Amino acid sequence: FVKERGKNDFMIFNQLMEHQSLERRLLENALRQGINEQQFYLEYQPKINMSTNELIGMEALVRWKHPDLGIIPPGKFIPLAEETGLIVPLGEWILRESCRQSSAWQDQGYPPLHLSVNVSVSQLEDIYFVDKVKTILHETGLDPKWLEFEITESVLASVKSTVSILKEIRNLGIHISVDDFGTGYSSLSYIKDLPIDTLKVDQSFVKDIHTNKESKEIAKAIINLAKSIGLNVIAEGIELKEHVDELSKDGYILGQGYFFSRPLKVGAFEDFMTTNHAAS
Ligand code: C2E
Ligand code: MG
Ligand code: MG
Ligand code: MG
Repeated sequence: FVKERGKNDFMIFNQLMEHQSLERRLLENALRQGINEQQFYLEYQPKINMSTNELIGMEALVRWKHPDLGIIPPGKFIPLAEETGLIVPLGEWILRESCRQSSAWQDQGYPPLHLSVNVSVSQLEDIYFVDKVKTILHETGLDPKWLEFEITESVLASVKSTVSILKEIRNLGIHISVDDFGTGYSSLSYIKDLPIDTLKVDQSFVKDIHTNKESKEIAKAIINLAKSIGLNVIAEGIELKEHVDELSKDGYILGQGYFFSRPLKVGAFEDFMTTNHAAS
């Protein structure tokens, strides 16, 4: 019986694996085709100075609209895009498109905003990355002082050549932000070794900040750490008024989250800029 059972489990396991790798291959092909056929678009999520309520920037977030499958969230395809290297051409498109859009908004007379773009490990490892960035800045005319790269803590702590690449990026005038800070399970030593500008407090610390003393103390500790070594700090995942209240108690801090706005399509973001500008 045990033998039978084991055999069956094995067959089911095999079928599952085949199924998964089939699904993976289908998704990979769809991803490749999606890049060629430009099925991607960007949404922009506001970043707010929580003590003045002022709009100060935005994060570009990629969306995939597949003709049959509909909207596929980044959590589903970014990991695969990274594994297959497709994030390199996709990431280049994301950077070019978001810089072009930011530059166009400034030309149209909207108040200039900081633009944050997520950059993944394969992009940093691409030897042409810095050249591509230079070309994009040149093509789009965006002043690099408005551009920031969000790089996750685990990537920053793991890539060997990060220091020199980050220095080159920094020399172009682009800022560096540590995304999902506090979740990378790494030592903090990279903070003093790497040229970074901002810590982005992960949403897991923000979520229960108003009900859980530990979360609150961790968030406060990160904010104090950042401030005391001269870094900027922003909290992500602000969903409630209570989150704003808890975090802005201790003075100037930036925030991003559904409480202020979900990520917005171009037209809706323009409305947000107009309203916010009129209000301030
Ligand atoms: P991330 O860079 O940490 O982005 C923040 C994520 O949190 C976004 O999810 C955003 O929509 C979501 N979010 C914002 N405010 C709230 C809130 O108040 N509550 C909650 N629960 N969530 C909130 P999204 O757009 O699904 O992106 C997920 C992740 O996918 C991103 O995490 C990033 O790691 C990756 N990603 C998204 N766009 C890009 C991109 O253009 N390039 C790369 N390389 N990665 C991207
Ligand atoms: Mg991010
Ligand atoms: Mg994040
Ligand atoms: Mg995240």
